[in-house]
Parts: sequence; structure tokens; C-alpha cells
Amino acid sequence: MEQTNGQNQYDVIIIGSGPAGLTAAIYSARAQLKTLVFTGREHGGQLMETTLVENFPGFPEGVMGPKLMMDMAEQAKNQGAEMLMKEVTKVDLTAEHKKVYVGDEEYTARVVILAMGSKPRRLEVPGEEELWGRGVSACATCDGAFYKGKVVAVIGGGDSAAEEADFLTKFADKVYMIHRRDELRASKAMQTRVFDNDKVEIVWNAQVREIEGDEKVTGLKLSIKNGDDERVESLPVDGVFLAIGHIPNSMIIDGDVELDEKGFVKVQHHTYTSVPGVFVAGDLHDHEYQQAITAAGMGCMSALDAEKWLAGQAG
Ligand code: NAP
Repeated sequence: MEQTNGQNQYDVIIIGSGPAGLTAAIYSARAQLKTLVFTGREHGGQLMETTLVENFPGFPEGVMGPKLMMDMAEQAKNQGAEMLMKEVTKVDLTAEHKKVYVGDEEYTARVVILAMGSKPRRLEVPGEEELWGRGVSACATCDGAFYKGKVVAVIGGGDSAAEEADFLTKFADKVYMIHRRDELRASKAMQTRVFDNDKVEIVWNAQVREIEGDEKVTGLKLSIKNGDDERVESLPVDGVFLAIGHIPNSMIIDGDVELDEKGFVKVQHHTYTSVPGVFVAGDLHDHEYQQAITAAGMGCMSALDAEKWLAGQAG
């Protein structure tokens, strides 16, 4: 076990380095709190996989996702935050001094901010991995504008799929919504929106078997059920948007912090979790908005909550 001898002791440890974690770091370090960010094995979160971000305020021409994240990291470092490109393997959040482990290395802090985010659920079919970022995306808001005048498919039947299908018709000439059942999970209001949209065609009872294409997506291989019959057919599309839910990265905190039935961290109020001194920010809690700007906003809130909580402990 590595000795801590004061070196590994912090006021605030932030786990995660997407917009939530890095904004929390900027605020925490700027408040003169000794702050450490565990970035994970890859830093920057989901935006590192995005190209042009056109909806983060302050960038009239848009900004590349990786550039935005590198600048946020630089800003956090300039404020005095330390960064470790390591993946946290275990936590013990119940004691007054919370413990965070990377293998045998132990780090302690009075406050922990959880900002590990979530990852889009994948279909796990051939072509998905190979064509990711080359026609396969999990974010219509990020990538929809690249499909002006094209044909795209949205996979899923929930609110996200319905919202993305409707949104994509601003750009695409035709949007297929591919759903594995014969009724949508989406709310009535969202269903009405897609049913009323002439550019959206729903393909019912259809499972994606393969995403086709070499350099970029050219189509989908679908297996479509009709009663007892099942047929496999190819559907030509230029882009595929996955909207089959997100999986929160809450594995290492399961059992320490209260989670909802899907594994997202519950808040008591604002960014306070069920454990005193442990706060949450971004997609690890919020599966509704899932935007860089909302994650950054919650990161700011979590650091301000942490600062206030620490001041209360001192008094
Ligand atoms: P969701 O409600 O969990 O829906 C996921 C959809 O993907 C379901 O239709 C599911 O099919 C399908 N699916 C899951 N795994 C699949 C697989 N392996 N292959 C094919 N299809 C698969 O997720 P969401 O739509 O992202 O919504 C998450 C939460 O955010 C919900 O509470 C939602 O109401 C909320 N939200 C709200 C709004 C809004 O109100 N404007 C917008 C977005 C999200 P089945 O239906 O067959 O299970």
C-alpha cells in the first residue's frame, strides 16, 4: 500500500473529466481548495469522440469537441487543479476522509465529486465499432447537421429516439425510425410528433443485424418480423443514430451512494448525494438533458455546493 504522507490528501477529489468534472475542477481550484481530478484512462469524456460542437455558447463558428475539452482541462490546471490520467478502481466514501483507490494507491479527500458520466448503449452488431464516427453516432444534436438532404436511421423507440428522429428532419430528407417492437416506448406527446412528421417512417418489429459500409455507412441490414415470418433486408442510409439509452458509469460506487433503478446517482437536493460530502454532476445523474452545457452547469453547482458544505463542516 502506497504511503499517503500528506501527498495524496486533498480537499476535493473529482472523478471524471468531461465538462462536468472539469468545470467542477475550475471552480474548486479557484476557491483555493486542493483539488485532484482523476481523468480516467482517456480524458475529456464523450466530447473527445465528437467533431464540431455548434451549441456550446461562446463559439460563433463552433468548436471541435476535443479542443473544447483540452481547453477546459488547461483552464482547470491554470487554476491549480491537479490531473491524474488514471482510472479509479475502488472508493470508500463513508468515512470522514473519503478514500479513492487506483489499484493499491490510496488518495483521500474531504469531498468527492462524482462526474464519471454515462456511455451510450451500443447495439453490439458488426460494423458498429468500425464505422463509429463515420456515419454511426449516438448524438443527433452533435452530428445531425452533417446530414443535409440525406437519408438517416434512428434506432430505438423511446423519447430520445423520437426526439432525435424529429430533430433530424430539419436536415435529412428522410428519417427511418427502427424499433424492435410494434409500439413506441416514447411519451404520447413525442409519439404524436413523429407520427405527424411526414419525413419520418417507422420500421416496426425490426432489429439491426449489421451496419453496412466500408469507409462510411451505406446501409443497415435489418431483420423484420411480420407475425411468424421474419425477413432480412438491406435499407440504404447515409447515417445511423443510436438512441437506445445510456449506461451510467456507476459501477465503482454501487453500494456506496444511492442509485436509481437504472444506476444513475440520485440527488437529495441540488448536487448532494445520499452520502454527506459526496456530490454528483453531469450525465452520471442527469439522463434527461445530457448536454455539455448542462453538465458544465451542474459541475459548477457541485463545486459551489462542496465549498459551502466544507465551510459548514469547519464551523
Ligand atoms: P429509454 O426510454 O430507455 O428507451 C430506449 C429505447 O431503445 C427503447 O425503445 C428500447 O426498446 C430501445 N432499445 C434498448 N436496447 C435496445 C437494443 N439493444 N436494440 C434495439 N432497441 C433497443 O431511453 P431514452 O429514450 O434515452 O430515454 C431515457 C430517459 O430520458 C427516459 O426517461 C425518457 O423519458 C427521458 N427523455 C425525455 C425526453 C423528453 O421528454 N423530451 C427526451 C429524451 C429522453 P423497448 O421499448 O423495446 O425497450
